[in-house]
Order: sequence, then structure tokens, then C-alpha cells
Amino acid sequence: MKRSVTFIGLCVNHVGFPCHNHCGFCVLGHRRKKNSIPFSRVVALMDRLRDWRNRNRPKDFRLFINYFRAMNHDRETTVAMSQLDRRLRESPRELMMGGIEFKTDDELKPWLQERRDVGMKVIRLSLAGTQPSHDKWVGRPGDFDFNLRAARLASEIGFERHEWLLVSRSTIPHLEALVARLNEIPGRVYRGFRLLTWGNAPKKLEERERITREMFEALPEWVRKDVQHTAILKSEREWTEEARKLPDEEPPEPFYLILNVEDASMEWLEATSCDAIVSDVEERSRRIYETVPTMKALGAMYGNRENECMYWRSEMQHVWARRFLEEGGLEVEKHLTWVA
Ligand code: SF4
Repeated sequence: MKRSVTFIGLCVNHVGFPCHNHCGFCVLGHRRKKNSIPFSRVVALMDRLRDWRNRNRPKDFRLFINYFRAMNHDRETTVAMSQLDRRLRESPRELMMGGIEFKTDDELKPWLQERRDVGMKVIRLSLAGTQPSHDKWVGRPGDFDFNLRAARLASEIGFERHEWLLVSRSTIPHLEALVARLNEIPGRVYRGFRLLTWGNAPKKLEERERITREMFEALPEWVRKDVQHTAILKSEREWTEEARKLPDEEPPEPFYLILNVEDASMEWLEATSCDAIVSDVEERSRRIYETVPTMKALGAMYGNRENECMYWRSEMQHVWARRFLEEGGLEVEKHLTWVA
């Protein structure tokens, strides 16, 4: 069964800023290495792609740039990023605190204020239990305290806080204490809980930390009701059953194309027309999507009915696709798709 896809936008990935964390669950893996391209060249490429999008694609074809977490850039870059987002018709970015270089309170205040001044309204904290659990997860002693200091100062100058708290086997015992610490900080807060996200986490960490359906059901109601995307969160056993019920012909799945802007590809990108860039990405991505069987077929081949661990639907596809590719010894450009 061949997977059918439709492309609804273009996501440009650019790892341009250093990250000071070493998270066990980092989704970047080896791509965490920072590129050395000056940001002005990235902006010029994005503006060219934006003109192309405006001329050639429907209004709802989304074009956006993903810098990944670390937002360790200077004022000038922050301003350029925010102006670019506006030109792309994207909403103001959240200020993600993962991997930010440590700062004293005297340094933090103006740094946060600068970001408020360019239109950022939300600071995002991703916490994995209290200290020392959190510090161990992100591989940096002192990160928990730094985040809490930043939360307090950001709230004082009017940022809204979005707090994402990791729910894993080792963090569950700390959730209550963590929430109590966060509740001591005044300000406007949206709080959600997320399970371990499938990325490039080592298999052993996955096995040690991913929670089961039973553990999920045993979570206190105040956690369970705010777990992200509960509608697409099921155990592998349940997903295997869901996949079996899917029709043989699945409707086209909507995906964003992925364009990776890296040192190695920048010169080619600058010398190539947008038509040719997008056609190239489209063709290579389509080939991979068509190589990986549909969710129904993957479930029939690789679904493990004994596994009670919980995954989002997209993660489950990843896990099954990984089994399919490994078994077939197939090498594909994994960084180009959301399933491989
Ligand atoms: S902060 Fe983000 S980019 Fe940095 S190591 Fe953690 S997950 Fe990876």
C-alpha cells in the first residue's frame, strides 16, 4: 500500500545558534551542530522563498523557519527574526528557554526586556521534574534554578508563561513538587504536560522512561486532563488495533516539506531558483514518503500487541517506519520527512 501525501507548506530548518544543554531527548541528534551561515544570508533566502510562495502557492501554503530551541542570539538577530516572522505572516515567536546561556539576574532583565520590545509575549519553559531531576535530563547543573529565575523576571515584565512539564517514569514522582514551586511565581500561565517525545532519544532511555497506559491512567486527574494531544495518544497495542481498522486506501496525508539550510547546502541554495529548490525537495521527500508503507501496512507488519507504552500517532509511525527501514537495510534521507 503506497502512502499518498499532500504538501501544505514549507518548513525551513536552520540550526544557527549554539545550545548549552545536552538533553537526553534532543530531537536534533547529530544535527545539533551549529551552522556558521550569517543570519542575513538566511533572511535573504527566506525573503526569496516568500516572494516565490506569494506568486506560486495558495495563501494558506505556510512558509516558516524553525531554529530549534536555543535562542541564544543577540539583539540585532532577535529583531531580524521578528521582522522576518512578520513578513512571513507568522505570529510572534515564543521565547524558548531551553539551552540559553546562563545569565545573572542583572543580565537576564535587560535580555528579557529586549525580547519583549521586539514583540515576544510568551516565555516557554520545558521542565523535567524539579532539580536535580531536571538538571540531569538536560545535562546541565543549574538549569532548573536558571529557568525559575527567568520565569519570575519574565512574569514581572509582562510575559505570559507557557510551562511544559515532562511526564516520564522518573519525573512523575516530582510533578506535585514542581507544580507547587511554579505556583509560587505570580503571572499569567498556561501549563501543559507532555510525554517523552520520540526523537533521537537512545533506545535504552526510551525503554526506561516512556510511560505505559496503566501509568497514564494512574496519573492524578489534574495532570491527565492537561496532557498534550490526548486524542492521538495511545499505547502501541491500541495503535496496532487502530491501524488494522484503517481503510486500505488512506486519504492523502498533509505534511510540510522540509528544507534544511546548512553550511554544506547554502551555496547551492543561493545559486538556485526557488522553483528548482522546492521541486528538488518535493521530489526527494515524495520518494521517501512513498517508500515508507501506510500506517495500516506498517501496523500489520510491525505493530507490537504486547507493548503498553504510550505514543502519539506520529511517533508510532516513526517507530514502525524505523523498524521497516532497519529491517530492509534501507537508507533514506530521514531529515526530509516527518515519518522516516
Ligand atoms: S535545548 Fe533543545 S536543542 Fe538543546 S539539547 Fe535540549 S532539546 Fe536539543
